[in-house]
Amino acid sequence: MRATLIYGAGDVRVEQVPDPVLKQPTGALVRVTAACICGSDLHPYHSMSPADGPARIGHEFIGVVEDTGSDVSTVQKGDLVVAPFAFSDGTCEYCREGLQTSCVHGGFWATGDVDGGQGEAVRAPLADGILVKLPVGPDSALIPSLLTLSDVFGTGYHAAVRGGVDERTTVTVIGDGAVGLLAVLSAKRLGAEQIVLMGRHKGRTDLGREFGATDVVAERGEEGVAKVRELTGGQGTHVVLEAVGHMPAYEQAYGVVRAGGTISRVGVPQCEEAPIGFGSLFGGNITLTGGPAPARAYIEELLPDILDGTVEPGKVFDRTVDLDGVPDGYRAMDAREALKALVTP
Ligand SMILES: [Zn+2]
Repeated sequence: MRATLIYGAGDVRVEQVPDPVLKQPTGALVRVTAACICGSDLHPYHSMSPADGPARIGHEFIGVVEDTGSDVSTVQKGDLVVAPFAFSDGTCEYCREGLQTSCVHGGFWATGDVDGGQGEAVRAPLADGILVKLPVGPDSALIPSLLTLSDVFGTGYHAAVRGGVDERTTVTVIGDGAVGLLAVLSAKRLGAEQIVLMGRHKGRTDLGREFGATDVVAERGEEGVAKVRELTGGQGTHVVLEAVGHMPAYEQAYGVVRAGGTISRVGVPQCEEAPIGFGSLFGGNITLTGGPAPARAYIEELLPDILDGTVEPGKVFDRTVDLDGVPDGYRAMDAREALKALVTP
C-alpha cells in the first residue's frame, strides 16, 4: 500500500510501504477513506532531524473495516469507523476513567510498528478499545465533521472540559487553528456566554465567530493581553484554552487569566520549561491543566450533535487532497494557505 512518510523538516513523501497484516486477535485492518493533516504534524515538519526519519505520520482517520481478529466484538467487516488519535484498550483503569491517552496498553499512531493515518490502510491494534462505528456511509456529507472526532473536536472539547467551562465562566481561546476554533465551539456548547478568540487570521477568526466567539483579539503579546483585559473589566477570563503550544501563547495565557482561574492547554508544548512563579501562576492562584486529549472518551458524547446538524466542526477543512497531494497539503498548511487539509486516499 501507499502511505505518507516524513523524512525530516519540510520533507514529506508518499511511498510504497508493506501492507498491514493482523498481528493480534484484538486487532483490525481498516481501509482509510478519509484522513487529514494536523497542526501538530507541522511540529515535525518544522523541526524533525533527518536522522529520525523516515517515519510514518498521521493520526486522524475514518475507514472501512476489512478484517478483524478473533477477539474483536464491537466492529465487523464492512463497518465505517472513526478512530481517536491515540489507541487504547478500553478496559484498563485509565480507560474506564475516560483518560484513554494514559492507557496502560495504549500508544500513538505512527510510532513503533503501528501505521500512521495518512495512508491507504491501518492496522488498529486494539479494535474494541479504539474504533467507533459510524451510522453513515463513507460518502456522507458528514464525513468532514465526523473526522474531527478523531482529534481536533475532541481536543478542543477536552480543553474546555479540563478548564471547567460552563455557563458561569468567561473564556479566552488562544490560537485560531482548527483546535482553537473547535475549542470555541466547545466552550459555546458548554454554555460560556463570553468567548474571546485570540487569533490574527481573519478568515479563521470569522469562522470562530460563527462557532460562538463573542470577541476577537488580533493583537498578540502585551498588546493582546491588554485588549482582553479591556474586554473583561480589567480582570481577564475565568478560563483560558491554549491551543498553540509555543511559549508566547503560554505567556498570553497567564496574562489574560482571571485570578482564581484556570489555564487549560491542549497545544502540544514545544518547551519543557515555563514560568510558574508569582508573576505568572502563583500570584493569582491559577490552576494549570490540560494534556493530550482522550478523544475516544468524547466520541459518543459529541457524535449526536454532528449527526443531527447542531454543530458542523468539519467547517475547519478548507482544502482536500488525495494521497499524492499530501506533501502539498503540508506545504499549504505550513504557509497558512490552508487551515486544515482533508486527505482522501
Ligand atoms: Zn486502557
